[in-house]
Amino acid sequence: MKIASVELLNVRIPFQEPFRISSGEVTHTSSLIVCLQTAEGYIGYGEAAPMDGTFYSKESPDYTWQCLSQFLPTLIGREFYEASDVSLKQLDSFFARAAVETALWDLLAKEKSVPLYKLLGGSKRKIECGLAVGIYDSIDELLAVIGKYIDWGYKRLKIKIKPGWDEEPVRQVRKAFGDIPLFVDANAAYSIEDAEVFQRLEAYNLQMYEQPFAADALQEHAQLAKTVQTPICLDEGVRTIQDAKTVIELESAKIVNIKLQRVGGFGPALEIYQLCHDAGLDLWCGSMPELGVGQAAGLHHAALEGFNHPTDLGPSLRFFKDDLIKPFIEMDGDGTVTIPDKVGIGFEVHQEKIDRYLVRREKW
Ligand SMILES: [Mg+2]
Repeated sequence: MKIASVELLNVRIPFQEPFRISSGEVTHTSSLIVCLQTAEGYIGYGEAAPMDGTFYSKESPDYTWQCLSQFLPTLIGREFYEASDVSLKQLDSFFARAAVETALWDLLAKEKSVPLYKLLGGSKRKIECGLAVGIYDSIDELLAVIGKYIDWGYKRLKIKIKPGWDEEPVRQVRKAFGDIPLFVDANAAYSIEDAEVFQRLEAYNLQMYEQPFAADALQEHAQLAKTVQTPICLDEGVRTIQDAKTVIELESAKIVNIKLQRVGGFGPALEIYQLCHDAGLDLWCGSMPELGVGQAAGLHHAALEGFNHPTDLGPSLRFFKDDLIKPFIEMDGDGTVTIPDKVGIGFEVHQEKIDRYLVRREKW
């Protein structure tokens, strides 16, 4: 296939409620949508979902826009047979790489006339979803938000924690919701000096501790893992295949959360997936969260055999007040999303929604 034209869109859609984790709060997504059109007439979509400010990583929406607007014109006239034929090394942003790379995969699946998950080697169409909730001003607010969404049928609940907001919310959630599958995500808010927090949390039968310490504290995670029964899960700590190798070698974690946005697309994600799966680690797919284009890509990824925990991906209207795709991603009553039996990512992008939420657009 040959790339004939490229469009970059920046859209801004409000969250249902402000999303707060240990490192900050956001009220809107500022997603960047990459649309690649080929000479053969196919259009592939990919999303970069950096958060406002430096909420999750140093890559802001402005920085990601800059990277993409310099890189995308170089794709015009480029021929490719596989996504890896297009080198993304000069793109100094994992979000930007994810947008371009997943759009290339969408094109490949459309050209072959198959749903994307089949091209990736996946077999499941029903993807189990988990509910993730942020940090709130009060326990009452936290319990109210969980109460609002949990009845949608989610397979498990994860709550965000930070120093001063850890054992008490967990205790209250257990009290209010009983023995539901539950775990915590610290987004790197603690250090090894806080290990006793996780030892105290042992009393609550949690499924995992997600990213207790800093991304590069792989040794410290291994140390913590030796003192607790609850498995450690890494998210921010596994950005590259080298990180994954170190995690396995040091036994820093038993579970890895793979995010297309964090690692830069399906190519790196599949490599990390294979290495971790072969080493016997459990896996699941996380979310930034993204709008529907990015969520759909993640759902196809979650169709692979080794993803054996529910995903954070899910219904369009869980995190945001609206979505660009049609139909919306919706969860069945049994807590699963069924991947559409259509080519590529399986969802259309709605032009009228783009016009409504557009901040800027560039075309080459
Ligand atoms: Mg996480």
